[in-house]
Amino acid sequence: MAKPELVNLAGSSFVIPGPTNIGLITRGAEAYLIDSGNDKEAGRKILRLCEEKGLAIRAIISTHSNADHIGGNEYIQTATGCKIYASEGEKPLIEAPGLEASLLWGGMPGAELDNKFFRAAPSRVTEPIEDYGALASEGIDFFPLPGHFLDMIGIMTNDKVFYVADSLFGPKVLEKHRIPFIYDVAAYKDSIRKVRATEADYYVMSHGDVERDIGAVADANLGLVERIEESILDILGDEVNFEVVLKDLCGRFGVELGYGSYALVGSTTRSFLSYLAKEKKIAYRFKEGEMLWKAPADSP
Ligand SMILES: [Zn+2]
Repeated sequence: MAKPELVNLAGSSFVIPGPTNIGLITRGAEAYLIDSGNDKEAGRKILRLCEEKGLAIRAIISTHSNADHIGGNEYIQTATGCKIYASEGEKPLIEAPGLEASLLWGGMPGAELDNKFFRAAPSRVTEPIEDYGALASEGIDFFPLPGHFLDMIGIMTNDKVFYVADSLFGPKVLEKHRIPFIYDVAAYKDSIRKVRATEADYYVMSHGDVERDIGAVADANLGLVERIEESILDILGDEVNFEVVLKDLCGRFGVELGYGSYALVGSTTRSFLSYLAKEKKIAYRFKEGEMLWKAPADSP
């Protein structure tokens, strides 16, 4: 992260642009951070920026537990003793970040996932969010946006700035990653629709530009999910195993597989298979030691 800068959007709502955009909300000489940067170094720079601006960090609001969002938590919390807010579903992984790679891999991951992209330092969630209106008196509303990850949240401020975390990605980010990480496809689509239907003056994605109107970006994200679904249904015109689905899908979307992308896109592909099976659009059977998938669900 280059030297960060504080950009005012409206009133007391700010963004610190970076590899993961950080939100900042001032309340007097104190600030709430929304996420803490993609690594310890980012956390250190964000804390220094706050000090330069004469702002004490009251709390970090962690939108979700992915390493690129909580990478600076431990550094900032140790340095300032600040509170950390997070949803009940994301709390366990913020406190035990080694679980992120285990969840992606579905077992003990190799050393290839033991790095800052998959494993942040542990920090303590002092304020688990039970009530989404817990900070309403501060002009800050939590907003459930599950789907990308287990129990992600967005934050709306009384300046009508909506920090939407990873519920949506900017067009350049979609172009780069080709297949975004999705944990729960049904919830992911619902969350995009919810963001689209929620009026705000500014929409701040964690990875993307700040938008005044989110319609086109929401459509691009929904359209991509639909293209992935359609591709999987097309691939499953033949009865094939998971590895074939993944290989074919990556070929169609131009994803180059390595250990990290195999974990991420592989996990996302499994989530799509679960989703499509629940929707009864595909089915599986076991044959001679292989799990085979096929569409449509009622075909033999
Ligand atoms: Zn992210």
